[in-house]
This record gives sequence, C-alpha cells and structure tokens, in this order.
Amino acid sequence: MNNQQTFSIAVFDGDGIGKEITPPCLDLLQLACELASDDESAVSLDFQALQAGAGTYQETGESLPEASVAAARAADAVLLSAMGDPAVRYPDGTEITPQIELRFRLGLYAGIRPVRAIPGVPVPLADPRARDIDFVLVRESIEGLFAPDRKGTRVDGVEATETLLITREVSEKLFKHVFALASRRKSEGSSGRVTCIDKANVFGAFAFFREIFYELAEQHGDDALTMEHAYVDAMAMHMVNQPWNFDVMVTENMFGDILSDLGAAIMGGMGYAPSADIGDDHAVFQPCHGTAPDIVGKGLANPVAMFLSGAMMLDWLGRRQNCQAALKAGALISESVDAAFESGNLRTCELGGDSGLNEVTAAVTAQIKQR
Ligand code: ATP
Repeated sequence: MNNQQTFSIAVFDGDGIGKEITPPCLDLLQLACELASDDESAVSLDFQALQAGAGTYQETGESLPEASVAAARAADAVLLSAMGDPAVRYPDGTEITPQIELRFRLGLYAGIRPVRAIPGVPVPLADPRARDIDFVLVRESIEGLFAPDRKGTRVDGVEATETLLITREVSEKLFKHVFALASRRKSEGSSGRVTCIDKANVFGAFAFFREIFYELAEQHGDDALTMEHAYVDAMAMHMVNQPWNFDVMVTENMFGDILSDLGAAIMGGMGYAPSADIGDDHAVFQPCHGTAPDIVGKGLANPVAMFLSGAMMLDWLGRRQNCQAALKAGALISESVDAAFESGNLRTCELGGDSGLNEVTAAVTAQIKQR
C-alpha cells in the first residue's frame, strides 16, 4: 500500500439504545473502510471502548471518568452514541449528561447538524419541495445559555436567573468554521445563503453575536455567499413553511438545541439526524437523539443517525488528515443509507413502521456491499 492511514477512534457506547446501535455502526464503519481502500489510499480504524454515562455513574459514582476524557483527547476522533437515563440522576435532581460536559472539556464550539430529506423516508411536510430539504444548522456548543462557568442563581421560592454568554473568541472561531463550510457547500452546488439566527432586537448579547457575524463575513470575503440574519421566532416558522430555501444557519447554543430538534422532525424523526461537535483539535460525532428509554431492548432503535454520524466522522478525518479512502468510506455510508431507504420499503418505528435495528442494518450493509 502506498498510503495506509490508521485512525484511533474513542468509542462511547453510552446508555439505553446507545448500546444497541454502537456495534452495528462499528461493523459498518470497518466495512466501509475496507471497501474504500485501494492501492492509492487505504484507511483503517482502531476502536477503543470508553466508559461514561448513567450506567458508569451507577457503577462508579462518576459519569465521565478522567481516564475516559484523557483517552478521548488522545484519539483522532470520538464516536459517541447516546448517554443518560431519566431514572438515574445526580443528588441535585439533574440528569447525567457527560456528552455535554465533553463538549466543554474538548472545546467543541461548532455543533454541526445537517438536515437533509433522505430519499424514501417520508417527511411530515406535505409540500413536494420538502423532498429538497438540505441545509446545515450550526449550533454554538460551549457557551450561550449553556455556559458552564456562569451558573445561574436561585433564591428559593423568589427568583432564579441564568446567564447567556457570548464571547468574541468563541464567536469568531464559530463564524470562521461556518463560512468555510458555506463556501465548500457553495462550490458543491448549494445556494450559499448563510443565516445568522438571533434575537438581537431584544438582547444585547445577540446584537454582539450578529455584529461579529458580519465582521467575520467581511473578513471571509467570499462574494458568492449571501449573508443575512433572522430572528429565531421567524426562523422557527421558516423551518416549517420554507426550509428548502436555506443552506447554512448559525445560532447560539440554546436556540440551536431547540431548532435542531425541529430540524430532525422535518427530516422524519430523531433516528435520522446525525451531528458533529467540532473544535480546534478534537471532534465528537453522535446522533442527535437521546437514549430513548421507551424502546430499549425492543430491537426498534433506528441506527441511521448513528451511521450518518460515523460517515461525518470519516469525512472530517479524510479532510483533516488528507485521506482519500476515509472520504470515500464516508460517502459510501451516506449513499448506502439513501439507497437502502429509496425503495420506500423500510419504515422505522418513528414513522409508524416496524423496520428495526437488524432490518435497517442489513439493508444498509447489503447496499454498501453492492457499491
Ligand atoms: P435527550 O434529552 O437525551 O435528548 P429525549 O428525551 O429528547 O432525550 P430521545 O431519547 O432523543 O429523547 O428520544 C425521544 C423519542 O424519540 C424516544 O422516546 C423514541 O421514541 C424516539 N427515538 C429517539 N431516537 C430514536 C431512534 N434512534 N430510533 C427510534 N426512535 C427513536
């Protein structure tokens, strides 16, 4: 082989359906890498299983052991399924969310949430243009209303406050990432429309966010892109009445949290929505959904969001490490998911069907082997 690259992947199989969708995803990733490798470029993945989550908390008293953070830091990329269990909580009553803590610890400011109608997966919007939905929502992921070092205050029975933090440092990095993404998508045929979603008419923090957006847009200097802003309330409406008109959106953490579930809904359900959380030196790839306790053990978990998150990981590794085989393997997975659903025969439980984990995995695997 001329160019054999091996990437170390830290894997958190988490809790609930996370434990069910992880093994088939790892198998699919290995298969895609094998099929994508040739004499010019070859890729393989070296998986390391790591502990974190509600189960780990019950066993050890820690939800995110330091050893796991260190191993995640040392890896080339992190693949995470889902973590948490509403029945397992910290003494203060809050849920176990090490996946959010990991974003802070690894500085993952850019939450990439692609929203794309998968051929053959029914979408809830009746307008035929809903089949053309293909945009990326970028959620700032380490500050905003989730800023970890700005805990809220509470005077019991009287009042409670939270702080929404926007910093120039993180916003600049975020917008640079967004504009690079938009330019790349534009060169691949997208519209190049970039929308900053805020509430700058009411909050100074959002006025600051928007100012930095336009400053960085100027610096990026790609005339092929169209820069605009929109209020979050208007965007909630546009994501339902004209989502096919958007290309790249960027917003604060809390707004992004809410709008990304809306994005998952318009593409068919949580089981179809992948994501990447990207920083300067690290990245975590995980489905947007949670641990879905209601369907654990029933074989109904839809693994597509996890598969597509794995495909995003290969794409990111391919670009960052200049590995053609990884890029090809990522594309193979996305194409195989599309081909598996295109006939319309697969119907997962979110869509009222009974195509479960095994059936979907078999269909996607069969497609990838045909490529
Ligand atoms: P979290 O707070 O951790 O994001 P959540 O309470 O929002 O979790 P999810 O676990 O994301 O809830 O899921 C909401 C519902 O969507 C689940 O109860 C389940 O019925 C469905 N769901 C989520 N993910 C999947 C999946 N991969 N396959 C099938 N159904 C899913």
